[in-house]
Amino acid sequence: MRFDIMTLFPDLCERVLSESVIGRAQKSGFITVKCHNIRDYSEDKHRRVDDTPYGGGKGMLMMAPPIYNCYEAILSSLTDGERANKKVVYMSPRGTVFNQQKAKELSELSELIILCGHYEGVDQRIIDEIVDEEISIGDFVLTGGEIPACIVTDAVARLVDGVLSDSECYEKESISSGLLEYPQYTRPYEFHGKKVPDVLISGHHENIDKWRIGCAEELTQEKRPDLYEEYISRDKK
Ligand code: SAM
Repeated sequence: MRFDIMTLFPDLCERVLSESVIGRAQKSGFITVKCHNIRDYSEDKHRRVDDTPYGGGKGMLMMAPPIYNCYEAILSSLTDGERANKKVVYMSPRGTVFNQQKAKELSELSELIILCGHYEGVDQRIIDEIVDEEISIGDFVLTGGEIPACIVTDAVARLVDGVLSDSECYEKESISSGLLEYPQYTRPYEFHGKKVPDVLISGHHENIDKWRIGCAEELTQEKRPDLYEEYISRDKK
């Protein structure tokens, strides 16, 4: 799968996404992430990308033409397959809130183009012209779409085949499984007087599974009653 991020701060995204699992996935060729500097597509000799909003108001808005030029350059570099199975998302506090289900849906694309806003956001006409969906990472406002774009890229990329060594890694995780994850322990056996629960060293796999499911249900009921309700009603169907 290929990701193209349109931003005024490509180094920020590149830096974040070149580390750890996502960095390794790029090196191994399971995903490709390209970060594009919108400023390189400015039509202005001073490389301007923003201007004041019509009708007045505070702050600056990103202009449509540099973003459109950047988008066209990305399109022209795509294969037919990527073009046929692509989506353009704009990171925005106005969007629908991102979750694991959306990550799964996006991971089935061949190409995801992400537009990062900055300042007061972008000219509405670029949204109308190229964006399929506005996505928010939560009900708060950040200074730019770069961190949200990295969050979406990370969550989507780890669901792409090959990125994690085993799909079980995410199938049993919090949210994907429908429940929050049970507590996990590793060495040492005793830490500050606290020992690892006996069942985990019993070697009895059925009991271990039962204990884990019980803990996950209890935790979810306590911390995320909304998820628990969904899990219970899904089970009844
Ligand atoms: N004036 C905009 C509004 O009220 O909706 C907020 C602009 S915000 C300061 C600048 C940029 O940060 C946005 O264009 C968007 O790309 C990004 N951003 C801020 N908060 C976000 C969030 N919760 N989710 C996704 N992107 C966000």
